[in-house]
Amino acid sequence: MRGQTFTICIRCGKARIFSKSWKDHGEFGKGTVIFHEESRCPDKDCQTVVDAKFQEMRDRRALTEERKRIVILERSLAKKSKLATT
Ligand SMILES: [Zn+2]
Repeated sequence: MRGQTFTICIRCGKARIFSKSWKDHGEFGKGTVIFHEESRCPDKDCQTVVDAKFQEMRDRRALTEERKRIVILERSLAKKSKLATT
């Protein structure tokens, strides 16, 4: 994505205003620069609600990822123990 991205508030439908942009070097820092852009709803109260909702979504996703990891781990452990007993 390049240039000005026009986004609309998912809650009230107003055009979101550009707030800030920053770069970072990802988790592993191997030359991959991730470009972040943040926009906010012009309505402060609305933005607070939207922020809370996004945070909730992030938390839920993190939880799902964590569960997935545990399931994979358990499966590989089960496989290993099955191999060990036969
Ligand atoms: Zn809004």
